[in-house]
Amino acid sequence: MIASFDLSLLHRPLLDWYDTHARDLPWRNPPGAPRPIDPNWPYRVWLSEVMLQQTTVAAVKPYFAKFTQTWPSVFDLAAAPDEEVMAAWAGLGYYSRARNLVKCSREVAKRGGFPTTEKALRELPGLGAYTAASIAAIAFGERAVVVDANVERVISRLFLIVEPLPAARKTIRAHADRITPHERTGDFAQAMMDLGSQVCTTKAPRCLLCPVREDCQARANGDPQALPVKPAKKAKPERKGTAFWIERGEGEGAEVWLVQREGTGMLGGMRALPDDGWTARKDGSGAEPLSGDWEDLGAVRHTFSHAHLTLQVKRARTDAAPTGEGKWWPLHEWEEAGLPTVFAKAAALAMAQRPDGVD
Ligand code: SF4
Repeated sequence: MIASFDLSLLHRPLLDWYDTHARDLPWRNPPGAPRPIDPNWPYRVWLSEVMLQQTTVAAVKPYFAKFTQTWPSVFDLAAAPDEEVMAAWAGLGYYSRARNLVKCSREVAKRGGFPTTEKALRELPGLGAYTAASIAAIAFGERAVVVDANVERVISRLFLIVEPLPAARKTIRAHADRITPHERTGDFAQAMMDLGSQVCTTKAPRCLLCPVREDCQARANGDPQALPVKPAKKAKPERKGTAFWIERGEGEGAEVWLVQREGTGMLGGMRALPDDGWTARKDGSGAEPLSGDWEDLGAVRHTFSHAHLTLQVKRARTDAAPTGEGKWWPLHEWEEAGLPTVFAKAAALAMAQRPDGVD
């Protein structure tokens, strides 16, 4: 086993494997190729890494394409109005990422471009240890220890780390550091990510296809799937709230009242239907935003990272503008409003129940 005499060689079979098995992704440079001289390359790496946090590659691809077409450089993104970026992010979830994206792009634009070291990248707003390390390694070729959930799994198994997460993270990182090479550090980081997502999978790892199987202690031990040891999941609380569908006009001229949510809280900065003040942490009041004949349209269910929500949907018609910040939005264009998924579900329910069937 290499692990028993020279850990510094473990990257070799991994990089050889990566040279022929690397995933072809729109934000990737082919394995072994020199780093692109395109000045927007760090921007593309950063954007993809932010989008990929807690989100699958399949879900990210269309958003990455839309963002890079609309805002080809970090300077374009920095100059974009907040609400346009938030609307373009709608559906990708974890909306604090979009708010941080805007903040970070403006700081980078102010500095004239991305800093090139892990240490300096960490100073940017919203950029955590993982993202800084991955940009430093992938975009700038700096030796940085990149540990995401995929890498965490591979390392836990390779070195048979049985200490439960999150306490095991320090040990995992120390082992990742020991096997990170000084050359091709970006390729190595991506090779580890690909190995974790394609071969060393959470369930039923495909050890026979693994380039480091001869050195893997969990494989030798017979139960790699048991690692990493995760803490027991807590049951998610159930929450209740109400969303209000307020309409005016008829036929092609029909409109719906949309609001812009407060900047920093739950779904902050997103365009939305008015609601009764629910957040994922407390139930709403149920109070209607204006007097009138409210019709109960039923409810939609949505699961956030920390709670399940049952959102009642009520509809009313009015000719007066409801109180508070908001705007009338053409009903037939509601899908372009950039509503986050929970409100898009409520809107779809309301649209499906319109008497004139306009959509
Ligand atoms: Fe993962 Fe199996 Fe490879 Fe070990 S041998 S790193 S458990 S895929």
